[in-house]
Amino acid sequence: MTTEITHDDLQKNQTSEMVRTEQLVKRFGDNIVLNGVDFSVKRGQAVVVIGPSGSGKTTLLRCLNHLEKIDGGRIYIDGQLVGYREQNGRLVEDSEVNIARMRSQVGFVFQRFNLFAHKTALENIIEAPIHVLRQPKNEVIERARVLLEKVGLSDKEDSYPHRLSGGQQQRVAIARALAMNPKLMLFDEATSALDPELVGEVLKVMRQLAEEGMTMVVVTHEMGFARDVADHVVFMDKAQIVEQGPPEQIFNESQNERTRNFLGRVL
Ligand code: ADP
Repeated sequence: MTTEITHDDLQKNQTSEMVRTEQLVKRFGDNIVLNGVDFSVKRGQAVVVIGPSGSGKTTLLRCLNHLEKIDGGRIYIDGQLVGYREQNGRLVEDSEVNIARMRSQVGFVFQRFNLFAHKTALENIIEAPIHVLRQPKNEVIERARVLLEKVGLSDKEDSYPHRLSGGQQQRVAIARALAMNPKLMLFDEATSALDPELVGEVLKVMRQLAEEGMTMVVVTHEMGFARDVADHVVFMDKAQIVEQGPPEQIFNESQNERTRNFLGRVL
């Protein structure tokens, strides 16, 4: 049997979807926050989600790995239904084990870095691969060091979070997510809590990941990043996707009044 990868396989991989939502609905009480959202991300794509505050961007991201329960529609990651399973023609919430397994394949980087305060940078990174994936400690440490180098923090492996700047903590958080070898990375306003002079170092790591072909969804207010790094830009307003397309289309050629209004205010 041959395991050689054929051109057709590559084509299939490149065109297949890593994320797909179908008519996604999410409410908080009477507030409809996602109103029939069809969103998709192809394998290897960096998709950047932009839009006014309160338009539903963060909620969309949180729904993708089932940090929020949804009220309608479906979400698939790599072809697998997320958070729910079919039972007698109805959707019921999936088991905690299955949800945890799905989450272990999706890296999530939050606005606040959420590092374990009592663990060093290296210990933060090795925690989940050892305890969740049960990988051998020496291999995990070796890989963690490679990841620290990748995010430019080789000299900080023994530092505790309180000795690191916000930008350094966020880079450790990215390395920690990557240590799980995720098939998808989600970034929720990963630079919004940082002092302006620290934003660039985090965006640089994110840009490098995108260039390496990591599939990622990035919610951000950094329009420069969206313009330069995104393969595809999604503009949300009032719980819906209003417009989407390549950055040139959204930033230079949009005919949509809501898109143009928003960009007029932020650029
Ligand atoms: P964005 O990321 O575009 O700023 P969000 O997804 O954070 O938007 O929020 C969309 C809407 O959902 C807002 O009206 C917000 O107040 C509301 N919302 C978000 N999270 C919650 C929550 N946990 N409980 C109640 N309302 C929420």
